[in-house]
Amino acid sequence: MKIFITQRIPEIGIKMLQGKGYEVDVNPEDRILTKEELLTALKAKPYDAVLCLLTNPIDAEVFDASPSTKIFANYAVGYNNIDVAEAVKRGITITNTPGALTDSVAEHTVALFISVALRIVEADKYLRAGNYKGWEPLGFFGLAMKGKTVGILGAGRIGFRVGQILHKGFEMSVIYYDVKKNEEFENDLGAVFYDSPEELMKASDVVSVHVPLLDSTKHLINEERLKIMKPTAYLINTSRGPVVDENALVSALKNGVIAGAGLDVFENEPKLADGLSDLPNVVITPHIASATVPAREGMAILVAQDIIDLFEGKVPVNKVVV
Ligand code: NAD
Repeated sequence: MKIFITQRIPEIGIKMLQGKGYEVDVNPEDRILTKEELLTALKAKPYDAVLCLLTNPIDAEVFDASPSTKIFANYAVGYNNIDVAEAVKRGITITNTPGALTDSVAEHTVALFISVALRIVEADKYLRAGNYKGWEPLGFFGLAMKGKTVGILGAGRIGFRVGQILHKGFEMSVIYYDVKKNEEFENDLGAVFYDSPEELMKASDVVSVHVPLLDSTKHLINEERLKIMKPTAYLINTSRGPVVDENALVSALKNGVIAGAGLDVFENEPKLADGLSDLPNVVITPHIASATVPAREGMAILVAQDIIDLFEGKVPVNKVVV
């Protein structure tokens, strides 16, 4: 069996595949392949499996370039980079890596919230710039978090964990909006279901976004909905960039429509919307929410196991079903 890996992942996954005697080719460049480079790489050999990343758009052109490939195993939970409908039509299996990164992404989400709401990055820059002249009774007021309300948009694995940390750690009330109710969330945390994103955003002191990127969630956070939020509220997004209209967010942050934002994902990665990085009330990280050893190694194990399962005649545990 021949496998192509589009960019180096933790060794543990590569070793699992090599341990089965498969021929594993890893893109030798330590960077994202362009579409043309990916097509060329896939045409070089009859690969049976491709281990791809969220930075690789996988569509009909890619499937055509590699007709021998039976599985595209995505090293990510989100699979919005893959034309799944086209894959299904061709009988190609798509898998993802749910679960392994839930804790890390949730912890990063909370870290972004704390950083922006308690002005950690802004104050750090101020200090390093030599501006601190002594304790200031009126300097750098932040949000008193205890007892505030977090609105979770998308109460799946990561949204649930974020709610849990903020409820159990900061005694925050949890409300949520999702296309389906989550009874465990309600029973465990007393989370209250809202049946519209608008009502949720109106009532929240921080809105944390955890929906997948779908046609129905693109620009779920737009200019109109930002205006509904409290001017003292924060928006945190660690899901996918296009869920938020980033230009509308920049304008809302500039004009005091909301108090601040924490973002790990961007609408046109790696580019940022004009003006975003100049704003003091936003904390931004370069899509690193899952960047911990257990999360990334866990993802490598899942992705490798799913390829092995398919080759051994089993249905991969994380097969994407649409
Ligand atoms: P999940 O499938 O467990 O949860 C997603 C939730 O969103 C589900 O409860 C689903 O019912 C809900 N949902 C779907 N469509 C909706 C809609 N239109 N409106 C409201 N709710 C809707 O997924 P997860 O493991 O919690 O991951 C969530 C997302 O986080 C992923 O899809 C991925 O895009 C993103 N993610 C980002 C990073 C990162 O590095 N920043 C890492 C992992 C995952």
